[in-house]
Amino acid sequence: MQSFDNLLDKKVLRFRPNSFGREYSLQRPLTIVFPVAIMNQLKAIYNPSLERGGLFELSATESKLTCVAFHQVLGSNNATSYNPNKTLWSEKIRQIVDRGNLPLAVHTHPTKIGMHAYDSKQVRFYLKSSRPDRLIADKIITDNLVMPEAIFVKDERFGTGYGLALYEGGIFPYAISAVSDTQLVILLGTGILMAINKLSRKALYLLMGWFLFEFLRRPKYDYDGGGNLKIKISF
Ligand SMILES: [Zn+2]
Repeated sequence: MQSFDNLLDKKVLRFRPNSFGREYSLQRPLTIVFPVAIMNQLKAIYNPSLERGGLFELSATESKLTCVAFHQVLGSNNATSYNPNKTLWSEKIRQIVDRGNLPLAVHTHPTKIGMHAYDSKQVRFYLKSSRPDRLIADKIITDNLVMPEAIFVKDERFGTGYGLALYEGGIFPYAISAVSDTQLVILLGTGILMAINKLSRKALYLLMGWFLFEFLRRPKYDYDGGGNLKIKISF
């Protein structure tokens, strides 16, 4: 079983016991940087009517991961799924891990597959993980490592010409808008309970505290002037 203990020292991973021994996952606080040069590589392979993908290679320094490469992995892809060749996929992961780096799976979402009128959707819609996406992301990428996954969309409606969203991995919500969606539902529920006098003042303060805590903890996406993406995850 692969050891990632050197990445525990750099405060990018944590581990917890599980039924198989132990499992590594990302830890807070953390910054993940995706340089524009690598985003341009994804733009170059992007196909608006076909899913494509591969693996990002992330290099660690203290509480920070920097994407140093994108490795495309070919397979039998179509408009609604990305199916990388399993042998090539495992081989690429092994090479990344052997270099002391972390693999992060990425696939593109097409914007023109005829299921809905392209312009009727907000561009962020295409960055949402599908149900199959989430089922895959729940599984470990190596036998003892859990990582988030990424969705990439090339579109001029994003200021930078692309959008990238990370989900799951025990540290990201299942979709870029998921935290705010959940919070809206809870706020609405709280409002209804208050209106019918079913909620004590103490319970209300607890809910407000949780709301603020989750809001502050959500990953923040920032693009610098050059189009480099910096994702910050606080405490
Ligand atoms: Zn997908």
